[in-house]
Amino acid sequence: MAERVIKDDQPRVYFNCNKCPAFCCSIYERVAVSRRDVARLAKHFGVTFAEAERRYTTEFDGERVLKRVKDVIFERTCTFLDQKTRGCTVYHARPGVCRSYPGRSRCAYYDLLRFERIQQGDENVVPQVRITFREVEEEIEDGADGPEPFYEWADKEE
Ligand code: SF4
Ligand code: SF4
Repeated sequence: MAERVIKDDQPRVYFNCNKCPAFCCSIYERVAVSRRDVARLAKHFGVTFAEAERRYTTEFDGERVLKRVKDVIFERTCTFLDQKTRGCTVYHARPGVCRSYPGRSRCAYYDLLRFERIQQGDENVVPQVRITFREVEEEIEDGADGPEPFYEWADKEE
């Protein structure tokens, strides 16, 4: 995998995006963009706001998000990912959510990546992971030592 340059104000103590196949750019169905993000992309590409919105974004679940394309590693990925280098092609114009992700000093996927590469003895192995979300409802019931929470899985949507 080719090296790519990542610069960020965010301290990245426990993960290294240069060694990751851009899981975060690929696995999430929505990379939400604000009007400011679209304006930044418009400036970057020298097009109007409306043109940038039309070319690079779409609507998903009532939200404006970046378009996605088929990916060579994960099923789909961000339209702006360079699929060879796994680097962002609009790095300086990328949306706010990309700048702040993962918002902490650890990246869960990077931890898994390191773990599996050591386990498999192969620095090129890429764990395929899918994230799905399911609602859990908290109920409080009287227990022997007072009120106790318990959790109920909401019905799975088919
Ligand atoms: S998944 Fe984590 S390590 Fe990989 S590019 Fe995203 S933030 Fe970096
Ligand atoms: S804009 Fe760049 S950093 Fe953000 S999801 Fe797309 S490729 Fe990744």
